[in-house]
Amino acid sequence: MPHTVRRYDALAAAKSWSPSKKGDLGMQITEIFGENTLTFAGLKARLPKSVWAELKKTIVEGQALNSKVADVVAIAMKEWATEKGATHYTHWFQPLTGATAEKHDSFITPNQGGGVVSEFSGKELIQGESDASSFPSGGLRPTFEARGYTAWDPTSPVFLIENQNGKYLCIPTAFASWKGEALDHKTPLLRSNETLNKQARRALKLFGIETKRVTSTVGAEQEYFLIDQEFFYRRPDLMTAGRTLVGAKPPRGQELDDHYFGSIPDRVLTFMLDAEKELYKLGVPVKTRHNEVAPGQFEVAPMFENCNIAADHQQLVMIILKKVAKRYGFECLLHEKPFDGLNGSGKHLNWSISTKEGMNLLEPGESPHKNMIFLFFFSAVLRAVYKHQDLLRISIAHAANDHRLGANEAPPAIISAYIGEQLEDIIDQLLNGGLKSSIKSGLLGLGTPVLPNLPKHAGDRNRTSPFAFTGNKFEFRAVGSSQSISFPTVVLNTIVAEAIDEFCTTLEETVEEKGLEGALKDLLVESLKETRDIVFNGDGYSEDWVVEAERRGLLNLVTTADALPHLIKEKNINLFSKYRVLSEAEVHSRLEIWAEQYVTTLTIEVDTTEAMARTMVYPAAVRYITELTQAAKETKELGLDNSGSANMLKTMTEALNNLGKALEKLRNVQDSLENETILEKCTDYQQKVLPALTEVRDAVDFLERYTADDYWPLPIYREMLFVK
Ligand code: ADP
Ligand code: MG
Repeated sequence: MPHTVRRYDALAAAKSWSPSKKGDLGMQITEIFGENTLTFAGLKARLPKSVWAELKKTIVEGQALNSKVADVVAIAMKEWATEKGATHYTHWFQPLTGATAEKHDSFITPNQGGGVVSEFSGKELIQGESDASSFPSGGLRPTFEARGYTAWDPTSPVFLIENQNGKYLCIPTAFASWKGEALDHKTPLLRSNETLNKQARRALKLFGIETKRVTSTVGAEQEYFLIDQEFFYRRPDLMTAGRTLVGAKPPRGQELDDHYFGSIPDRVLTFMLDAEKELYKLGVPVKTRHNEVAPGQFEVAPMFENCNIAADHQQLVMIILKKVAKRYGFECLLHEKPFDGLNGSGKHLNWSISTKEGMNLLEPGESPHKNMIFLFFFSAVLRAVYKHQDLLRISIAHAANDHRLGANEAPPAIISAYIGEQLEDIIDQLLNGGLKSSIKSGLLGLGTPVLPNLPKHAGDRNRTSPFAFTGNKFEFRAVGSSQSISFPTVVLNTIVAEAIDEFCTTLEETVEEKGLEGALKDLLVESLKETRDIVFNGDGYSEDWVVEAERRGLLNLVTTADALPHLIKEKNINLFSKYRVLSEAEVHSRLEIWAEQYVTTLTIEVDTTEAMARTMVYPAAVRYITELTQAAKETKELGLDNSGSANMLKTMTEALNNLGKALEKLRNVQDSLENETILEKCTDYQQKVLPALTEVRDAVDFLERYTADDYWPLPIYREMLFVK
């Protein structure tokens, strides 16, 4: 009897995919860039001079907005949007789910007289109200007072989202409870940037520099996988959990190292060009694209921007990648670890601090040892990272990222800073009593006259460090590919603001007596003595580092369950409240939400794995076993040696029994859990449920290797990763 092999249908369909939209997308970047966003320049052109001047004070100096200004701005925005064909608007916000949320309202509403009224005033622009009781609040908002408010963020430009049937205006907003507690990612980000602004300007003043605004700058490189949708929809695990919960390692993965920076497959390139076009229209300055290490893995990176706009734009990058992929028959996987045994995806968060005039405070220049401003801010970052390793670790802690960190493909869970040879030398000179020179970076000298002499960077790259200084910015590499970059940025902004604050206080006290240079030198020596141990230029993947880090007393919070409890330590609550970034209640709410999310993620994984094992894998194995039984029996009846079929039958039967036992164990483990708090539950899930889940997976993966290929219902790694 012929079997219906749905998997082969998927393969055939994936192979024969062809684009419905052909031809060049007609990309003139300069013409389309920002077409779907009302840039500050565009807004300025539509506003009376006096109104723009008022608004600018809010945008640049963080001053409060007055309602008359808002009314005029609202009209200008509405005109712009409707001229472009928009019919609706939405307050676009970032709840603590990590994604974005929106509820659309039309610009006009039919009235009883049969006409329409215009519905968009300053009031609607500034504030929205929503019964947002389904968003996580971590106890900040009991359901009986479920109101949530959205508030316009004038510092991030509005934009239009379009599809073939229409457009709507998105207004970036903050999201808070009726008591004003932040229920989102944007509010703390704005608060932390404000704090950094205040402290950094105070520091610059000591160096004789006046500026109206300092902000952190951020550029986030996004890694992702693309697989054919035919496979995606046949994998319940990818659909519900975002990663493959079962699946045997293919004979060929990334061992040949031939994918990284390889030529981009044609269908993928057509997708990339289209996605980039959409992003350009939205004013998102994406710049580089390339193949990543694993087969089917790619990366896109933007030019850096101020942290708030960068965070909004990063959300748009994720949204557009997912949306446009479907046009090309792909599914874009943003999960940190979609495929076991292959590299996962991260989101390198490049971070620096800059004045409004564009002065990068982490630019070492030619002679960093003489660059007082650089040494000040650079040492402040090291101090911050040393003091708050736990917060940085927490900012990237979630179930998916646990599969990646420390897995010899991504930085370890131990937080340290790579700073390169030149800067380490400078620190050592300082600690040894004098600052005399900077190791010169020199020229590369490629050994042939036809190639130009390239200037050599003073610091080499080190891919194994979670937090690396790369020339004139730090690169936080442990951030996960699916997560919002806001909280990691909040942590960086806040902890560095604190270090700057401490430095300033000391400097202000000692500068008169010692002079600026003397006071700074003493201060840096003092601080670096304490924090030198955070610097590690070696191989972060090595076992030795784990031992060495422990000797240094650095934290090694291996999993999310280990990291999260540190969030509510007194030091962290005090830090966030002192700098008005998060109140104590807001910190607690985040702990609650993230712990809950961890457990929910694992629960979904368990349920999906069970369902797949029972309803897809089991039947396939049983069918094959039936066939083997018959073959073994009949071969024997014919008086022939049946060892081939009989051995296979034995192997399959045992493997199926093992799967049965593993499933039972998984259930029992879950049923036996007795935990009182959400944190205990997290630990139980990490320590007991996850290993039991892995056992089920191992049993399934064994069966995959033995079951007849035409019985196997799930698209396998080889197909998903290599068919493009
Ligand atoms: P690489 O990582 O190869 O050194 P780049 O120097 O181009 O590459 O930087 C990678 C990312 O870092 C880009 O997104 C870029 O915009 C960002 N970046 C560069 N300079 C800064 C800065 N001063 N602040 C924040 N991000 C930056
Ligand atoms: Mg990089």
